[in-house]
Amino acid sequence: MRLSYYCSSCKKENYIKTNAPDRYTFLQEYGNYDFKEKCKHCGNVTKKPINRLYAEPNRIILIGGVILGIVATLFLLQFGFISLITLTIPIGIWVNQNNKTSIFNKSRVKESSL
Ligand SMILES: [Zn+2]
Repeated sequence: MRLSYYCSSCKKENYIKTNAPDRYTFLQEYGNYDFKEKCKHCGNVTKKPINRLYAEPNRIILIGGVILGIVATLFLLQFGFISLITLTIPIGIWVNQNNKTSIFNKSRVKESSL
């Protein structure tokens, strides 16, 4: 999963990668209530509370899921199977990614929880 934020200077989107399932874990990992990172586009340092960072689904995982679903379907077709089960692979991955991001985005942290 990655977290996105907009640079306070050039307004372009920046990302930071994390494996944290929610903001609380991210706060422990990051070690600072205020998120402070240098913009990849203009070098300006953007500072904002972790509560203002938003998770978004990992597109690579989503695309990987679709490819996996297609490959699995073609594989089964060789044996004369038409299986709906393989179509559920990308849907399952999509639902899973969406759940993960919504859990993260719903969580809130306080400065005192660090
Ligand atoms: Zn910038």
